[in-house]
Amino acid sequence: MKICIIGAGITGLTVGKLLAKKYDVTIYEKESAIGGIARTKNINGATYHIIGGHCLNSKNKNVMDFIFNEVLSVEDWHKVQRAAKINLDDNFISYPIEFSIKEIAKFDENLAFNITKDFLSSKDNDTDNLADWFKEKFGDTLANEYFIPYNKKIWQMEPSKMSHLWIEGKLPLPNKKEFFKALIEEYKDTMPHITFFYPNSNNQNTFIEALGSGLNIVTDFSVTKIEKIENKWLINDRYEYNIIINTSPLDLLPSIICNAPQIIKEAAKKLKYNKVTNVLWKTKPIDFTWSYYPSEDTIFHRHIHIGNFFNPKQNYTITESMGEHSYEEMVGYGEKFDYLLEPLEYNVSDYAYVVYDQNYNEATTKIKKYLEEINLYSIGRFGEWEYYNMDICMESAMKLADKINGLDS
Ligand SMILES: Cc1cc2nc3c(=O)[nH]c(=O)nc-3n(C[C@H](O)[C@H](O)[C@H](O)COP(=O)(O)OP(=O)(O)OC[C@H]3O[C@@H](n4cnc5c(N)ncnc54)[C@H](O)[C@@H]3O)c2cc1C
Repeated sequence: MKICIIGAGITGLTVGKLLAKKYDVTIYEKESAIGGIARTKNINGATYHIIGGHCLNSKNKNVMDFIFNEVLSVEDWHKVQRAAKINLDDNFISYPIEFSIKEIAKFDENLAFNITKDFLSSKDNDTDNLADWFKEKFGDTLANEYFIPYNKKIWQMEPSKMSHLWIEGKLPLPNKKEFFKALIEEYKDTMPHITFFYPNSNNQNTFIEALGSGLNIVTDFSVTKIEKIENKWLINDRYEYNIIINTSPLDLLPSIICNAPQIIKEAAKKLKYNKVTNVLWKTKPIDFTWSYYPSEDTIFHRHIHIGNFFNPKQNYTITESMGEHSYEEMVGYGEKFDYLLEPLEYNVSDYAYVVYDQNYNEATTKIKKYLEEINLYSIGRFGEWEYYNMDICMESAMKLADKINGLDS
């Protein structure tokens, strides 16, 4: 059986690795390098995550077992302790913020009191948008001071105009007792991803290359036409396959499938995504792994202190801003931070974040139903149009590989 995979990102490489044990698999990648959003570039010896800093971990044991047993052995990784901070009124507060009220009280007692009062009296009623969801879960003050402005930056739209359904299960939710305990005791972070893995080479590409090793990958090849002829698929009028697995963006897929219905093409046009612009900086030493910036005073939403992912540590940070910005604007805002010393490289991404607006559910449901009817598999962050991390992409790839492996057994 011949299988075609569109895209050599984390998802395509994972499903490829699993299926190539049994089938004739070809992966087509439009770029000259593999790795998709997760790939890195070497800038004068520094690892630059061109789309934004990445850390790897998973609650799913099968995913970690696959990585350590079949991709890159556990000895080739080091563990990093997460030290995430939120910048609130120029003070660095430990993440997650709801357990750091004592830190807030040190510079603004009134704010700490209002957060506590609202958190403990929040009702957790049903809501129909993301802004109200934050208020119901965390109380008005924390929602207004942090969650709503930060999410407005990330999604580039008002959270009151967004669906909240996607966030359920993605953001760990504290209960009132845990909140109270953190007020009176030393808080111990037991949330998922408190530690994460990074390759000993100090370069995520080592993982990507290991994932792709031994696979038949055709780079600089854009899939521009998919046609079903009887029980076979024809790619770009030339190459024939029994199965197609797409990991390229769902909003473009219907436009390359021959005879896709107009209604599906229209649904695809309704899907929204955001780009991200970032700059790699040489920095002074900093203690954190990353910091969040909810304030409107800066265009950055996050600084990834990528040098602290390395062993030994190095002094590099990636400043990230949603949307498209010029180099001058990024560097101008960066110069306001005294620890950012020298800009080294700049990048504007294409697909970075899917946007869960009010059209999301109807549009994705229609497209996915159609793909199921024509038997075309579509998985991954943009293949499923979901806010997936690498581990969830791998989980999705593993599920599909199990299904396909089971087809002829
Ligand atoms: C800023 C940012 C930070 C992140 N941080 C983390 C993190 O800390 N930890 C974590 O686990 N995850 C993180 N993620 C998520 C992670 O990057 C993704 O989940 C994962 O890389 C997605 O992999 P994918 O293969 O599904 O998609 P992609 O990486 O988008 O791969 C799809 C591939 O398809 C190719 N392609 C597209 N169209 C075609 C075509 N027509 N023909 C051929 N090829 C095509 C593309 O070039 C691309 O290589 C982050 C994402 C972003 C944007």
